[in-house]
Amino acid sequence: MHACFKKILIANRGEIACRVIRTAHRMGMNTVAVYSDADRESLHVEMAGEAVHIGPSPVGESYLVGERIIAAALETGAQAIHPGYGFLSENPGFVEAVEAAGLTFIGPSPDAIRAMGLKDAAKDLMEKAGVPVVPGYQGSRQELAFLAEEAEGIGYPVLIKARAGGGGKGMRKVERAEDFADALKSASREAAAAFGDPHVLIEKFITAPRHIEVQVFGDSHGNVVHLFERDCSLQRRHQKVIEEAPAPGMSAAVRAAMTQAAVKAAEAIGYRGAGTIEFIADGSGSLRPDGFWFMEMNTRLQVEHPVTEMITSIDLVEWQLRVAAGAPLPLTQSEIAMNGHAFEARLYAEDPARDFLPVTGRLEHLEFPPEGRFDTGVRTGDVITPFYDPMIAKVITQGEDRETALSRLSAALDDTHVAGTATNAAFLAALSRQADFVAGTFDTGLIERELASLTVAVAPAEEHVALAAILALGIDPDMPHLGWRAFGEAFHDVRLTARDRAYERCLSLGKDGVMTLSGGAEPVTLAEIAIDDALISARCGAARRRLTAGFARVRQPGGLLVSVHLNGRTEDFLLVDERAGAAALVDATDAVIAPMTGTIVQLSVSAGDVVEAGQKLGVMEAMKMETTLVAPRAGRVAAVECKEGATVSDGAVLVTFEEETP
Ligand code: ADP
Repeated sequence: MHACFKKILIANRGEIACRVIRTAHRMGMNTVAVYSDADRESLHVEMAGEAVHIGPSPVGESYLVGERIIAAALETGAQAIHPGYGFLSENPGFVEAVEAAGLTFIGPSPDAIRAMGLKDAAKDLMEKAGVPVVPGYQGSRQELAFLAEEAEGIGYPVLIKARAGGGGKGMRKVERAEDFADALKSASREAAAAFGDPHVLIEKFITAPRHIEVQVFGDSHGNVVHLFERDCSLQRRHQKVIEEAPAPGMSAAVRAAMTQAAVKAAEAIGYRGAGTIEFIADGSGSLRPDGFWFMEMNTRLQVEHPVTEMITSIDLVEWQLRVAAGAPLPLTQSEIAMNGHAFEARLYAEDPARDFLPVTGRLEHLEFPPEGRFDTGVRTGDVITPFYDPMIAKVITQGEDRETALSRLSAALDDTHVAGTATNAAFLAALSRQADFVAGTFDTGLIERELASLTVAVAPAEEHVALAAILALGIDPDMPHLGWRAFGEAFHDVRLTARDRAYERCLSLGKDGVMTLSGGAEPVTLAEIAIDDALISARCGAARRRLTAGFARVRQPGGLLVSVHLNGRTEDFLLVDERAGAAALVDATDAVIAPMTGTIVQLSVSAGDVVEAGQKLGVMEAMKMETTLVAPRAGRVAAVECKEGATVSDGAVLVTFEEETP
């Protein structure tokens, strides 16, 4: 029996830091968190036994500063460092520095990371080991004429890829020979900017591709096993959105071929720890044993590792810790079994209505349903800052078969209530019900093809507005007459705003205690209203249908935020505080409001300009993403309240419009 570590340091933040801490504690280890300024109050700091401040909020001054992290481990007496994913997890220089300091890196050797670090060298290595690789050219020559000839030989369409690439950067699909030169130029320019390495390789573009990857695990005694496959074909801009295990349509023959290839790949580099071999498979028909090719190896734990944990009942972090401490793998290949099916959806603070732009802001309410696994690093009241990845949680479900696990995923997404920031929850829920995905016949192009239907903007239902009005007005259903006018008609005018639109309604109270909201497309009647801390229910309409909604009420600087979660949709309304500052008082149709905290990179209007509805007024940048500022309506610009280069905060008034003359 190998003794495990007494104390480990987690060189990461967010959900993965929390995930690692949980297992370490279950195994009786002490934990040390590291944190930046922005993360002072964060969940991973609260969960860890100790925490060390490592610097300012930008990652380049904190989570990427290897020396600070190693010093923190030495100071606190931690014996080993878990890197999580991202940050320093695949940095061989960091691993060497950790080892030079007499500490253990919980992950592979620096040589293994280097061997897989560049796509071209990794492909060469895999080809020699007998692993199928995507046909293409991955040599050293980079002249245009030569590469164009190679592309011709491979046959169009081809994919140009940066050898140092990651996150889909430096990648260009080329359909026709005449477009090759331009695509090559822009791919290598992007690669040089992103990775400091313009070098590219050319690959056959696999049509109807599926991304299927195999989880492998090695120990320091020469054992390598696989833990089956994951399908990560649901991608947007080459980023994974929903993952599952096992892969739909996987036959025993294809699985045997793919998992054997993966084990061979890991053995070829003497791999230790958790790793993933990514394959691209031809998804144009049934999967074939000769229809998949090595793409790359990720030498770390993956974001989507929970789906493997769900089907194998193995805690992958526990295995990482044991293997790093020198123990052999806890199970042999024949002892590793697979049961049922699992899904993971990545819940993000981002706005599908604004091209999935990352959103910053306070999570005024965060509540997950009782069923399911929710890996998260945030809780109610935490702030999504512009410094880090805006993931809120991974929503993970399982079931005895794919259909059950998938319907649980839809339900878990429907029942997750996030107030205060926009999220992709409704998009994920729609995706989980998309016909081709449900049928298990999809490829990496599905989201792009179906984007319009997956992101249709749905206005809040009138029932949402009605419940929000009751909550905003603070009506006590047990004393419904309180606060209403004693004489004359019993009614309240209420004006709520949601997503830059105003909802002007009238709530009236009938003699029978039934409340009616009018002023919308159709009146809504509510009877038998009951409110407790977090739920509001009522009977609605002539059929007296019972509605139950989750809600949150939070005082914000501009007014009262009322969030209503009903029928799988969250709608946030603001009851504007009349005494609040100018920002809150400006009608959104009379102003352009900063959608997030960021920098104004360009402005193209001045006071007095007459603009069209939807006309571009400027560009803002936040979290390395640009967003266009557009006129909410036609009219004359009254004032421009910001300057190019200025930092503006979320909700700030940027441009105001002169009042419309009727
Ligand atoms: P990165 O390291 O930038 O993420 P990968 O090589 O992992 O790049 O590829 C990312 C995604 O691009 C894959 O999951 C797949 O959807 C697509 N892709 C990669 N190679 C090919 C190919 N040869 N043909 C078609 N699609 C590909």
